[in-house]
Amino acid sequence: MSRVDIDAVVVGAGFAGMYTLHRLLQDNFKVRSFEAGDDVGGTWYWNRYPGARCDVQSMEYSYTFDDDLQQAWEWTERYAPQPEILSYANHVADRYELRPHITFGTRVVSAHYNEESSFWILSTDGGETLTSQFLIMATGCLSSMNTPDFKGIDSFKGETYHTGQWPQEGVDFTGKRVGVIGTGSSGIQSIPIIAEEADHLTVFQRTANFSVPAHNQLLDEEFIEDIKATYPEFRANNRQMMAGFGSRNERHEDSVLDADETLIQERLEANWQRGGLGFLGAFGDIVIKKEANASVAEFVRNKIREQVVDPKVAELLCPDQVIGCKRLCVDTNYYKTFNRDDVSLVDVKEHPIDEITEKGVVTNGKEYQFDAIVFATGYDAMTGSLLKVDIRGRKGQTLQDKWAAGPRTYLGLSTYGFPNMFTISGPGSPSVLTNMIVSIEQHVNWIRDCLMYMRSNQHQAIEAELDAEDYWVVLANDIAGQTLFKSCNSWYLGANVPGKPRVFMPFIGGLPTYAEICDDVAQDNYRGFTVE
Ligand code: NAP
Repeated sequence: MSRVDIDAVVVGAGFAGMYTLHRLLQDNFKVRSFEAGDDVGGTWYWNRYPGARCDVQSMEYSYTFDDDLQQAWEWTERYAPQPEILSYANHVADRYELRPHITFGTRVVSAHYNEESSFWILSTDGGETLTSQFLIMATGCLSSMNTPDFKGIDSFKGETYHTGQWPQEGVDFTGKRVGVIGTGSSGIQSIPIIAEEADHLTVFQRTANFSVPAHNQLLDEEFIEDIKATYPEFRANNRQMMAGFGSRNERHEDSVLDADETLIQERLEANWQRGGLGFLGAFGDIVIKKEANASVAEFVRNKIREQVVDPKVAELLCPDQVIGCKRLCVDTNYYKTFNRDDVSLVDVKEHPIDEITEKGVVTNGKEYQFDAIVFATGYDAMTGSLLKVDIRGRKGQTLQDKWAAGPRTYLGLSTYGFPNMFTISGPGSPSVLTNMIVSIEQHVNWIRDCLMYMRSNQHQAIEAELDAEDYWVVLANDIAGQTLFKSCNSWYLGANVPGKPRVFMPFIGGLPTYAEICDDVAQDNYRGFTVE
């Protein structure tokens, strides 16, 4: 093969894929995107479960690259609900005329690198084969569903749903006996709403989770105008935050351990009343030191005890792990839902789910019968969607083999042995620990600059060097080791998927530091990359 069809293939048309497409089209790259869904939106296309909304505030969870766009779009709630985010994604696709460049309902099933010609040969499940110089994986971090392999799972005669692939037409649970398995963010958001509809709801909880109130509300005009009047500055300040958002949140860097009990309670109470992920910004060392974490965790446990009437149920809902180690959840009425007579909580930690039968779920020798079961069991996060594609780099090495002991990347953007391939918000980058849209923009801008550099210098291939990758893997691991993030079984570590290597996947050094390193690498003629 010596002919290359296009400059770049972008896999996925969520927020990462759409912005990549837009950015590369602006610079006249010949680029195409393939998207498994029938429309744009990625995670927001698939996650239509009741109560789905973003836990980053709407005025922050949106593209920053075009001031006209951010001035034109009107968010209505503090935390945007899924339908509104999906409308926004559609608006973006129309506004920048992206759809003609996206092939919908089509998966890229394989991508093999051809060393002789330095390009990728791709094939899709639609039967198309094409060649492209660059392969850009914008496949999302939380899009490959995890459905545990429960014994008898296919025998259930009722309806089954996964929160990550909810039917477009919605589901009516009225009059039904419903079981929800899983109490992560998706379960915690959907349980209160399913409870309102269902005849009876049973929640199967393996690990109790910490959740703080969203205090979601309609945005008032004054607030919107205030942000819009200073949007560029607001965005710039957010980019300087560790997580790429929250510059208007109150944040303290001092230690819990240096504070007296009154100050601790005052700060935590104030943050609880404000609600949202900013809760953990009350002190600087909550996710760093175990002793600092303990009093914050206990504060939230006490909030759970205050809200839940039955003390036994309250204790079951009280998490025993470090707070913040698993992704903090943000809820509306979650804990109070367990005060309803038509909601029950079943602990499946001590007695795991034994099997799923024709009629329902069996645990601890008891069968719970349902009309519908909802799997809120999460994702094969960060690597799942990448490893689903048969990606082969130099010498035919598969990405599955390369990452058999866990993902290895340089900057979370590139991996040795796979030239001209980039991952957006991939493992080894701040990604899921940040405002995803801000991280996506940073990655796309870096990749776009890299492609411009390649084009203007007539380079054919760029590949991460093994030493650079080794250095990055060790650095990312070391920084994570200085925190409490490795102390519990989270999806950040792949611990939720049986058999997945236990490796802390995101880069936890913060977005500003990370972006500075990426810029420095680029300015230093792509230090750590071999360019041909
Ligand atoms: P998740 O956090 O991984 O939660 C999955 C739940 O299923 C956990 O409670 C897990 O228990 C349980 N589970 C898994 N396998 C099980 C088994 N074999 N038996 C019993 N229980 C089992 O997934 P998620 O709730 O979909 O959330 C994933 C991430 O997506 C979030 O952390 C967040 O980053 C993102 N998200 C964000 C929002 C938002 O913006 N508000 C909403 C939804 C999702 P264990 O904890 O014991 O593993």
